[in-house]
Amino acid sequence: MRELDPLVSAAAIEQAGPAHIATLKTADPPLSTLNGHRFARARRRGKNLLFPTEDGELVLRVHLMSAGRLRYLAPGAKGPKTPMFRLRFSGGGELVLTEAGKKKRAGVWLVSPAQLDADLSHLGPDALDLDTEMLAEILGRERRQLHPLLRDQRAIAGIGRAHSNEILLRARLSPFKVSTELTAAETETLAGAIRDDLHRALELRERGKGDKDVYVIHNRLGEPCPQCGTPIARVDFEEHTIYYCPACQTGGRLLKDRRLSRLLR
Ligand SMILES: [Zn+2]
Repeated sequence: MRELDPLVSAAAIEQAGPAHIATLKTADPPLSTLNGHRFARARRRGKNLLFPTEDGELVLRVHLMSAGRLRYLAPGAKGPKTPMFRLRFSGGGELVLTEAGKKKRAGVWLVSPAQLDADLSHLGPDALDLDTEMLAEILGRERRQLHPLLRDQRAIAGIGRAHSNEILLRARLSPFKVSTELTAAETETLAGAIRDDLHRALELRERGKGDKDVYVIHNRLGEPCPQCGTPIARVDFEEHTIYYCPACQTGGRLLKDRRLSRLLR
């Protein structure tokens, strides 16, 4: 958002689209409605990138899921042949959405501001805005394991699987610890870990760094924990994988699979 903000508002939209049929989630109004309009800025709500038009009538929403990438191509820059979505500005700059892998999950929506509010009304407070008090209230609502709670967009908006791993290592808390059982000190530590991890990641991303520099535990099975040197462990679920340090986070216990993990709450 920070990178795109000055770029998307610099010129009028010449041609919005085409978009892949799996990517474009709305049909009415058509993308071509944007042609001739200008974006006011780039904004963000949780994991959604938002591009409201200057006249306040429409918002282009983009959700990258895990494999989508949205880039601004300067006039004349070489881009992908068949992006999932393309938007050309007058003057030749382009916004292009690509998505690695076979599964096409990233989404593009063109909606009114009222529809956007309705579509995103379920989102919790933004992770970057959380203070200890807000986090304590969220943790105390119901008994939830920390990893699924952190990545639940209804509870906290903006944190995904990778950063849940990073944050919980930093806080030295088990991914399966129950939210209502955190002490005040642990809650404060977790709030600090969320803030520190996300700000560090943002700073690195703004310098052009990739996943390998940003993630210290995510996707690093068997590598030494940056805090204690213990090999990083992993527990697999059907839809996702959790990385953790057995020494820092689970009192030395290894979580082998879903069944075992239930015993270790
Ligand atoms: Zn460790």
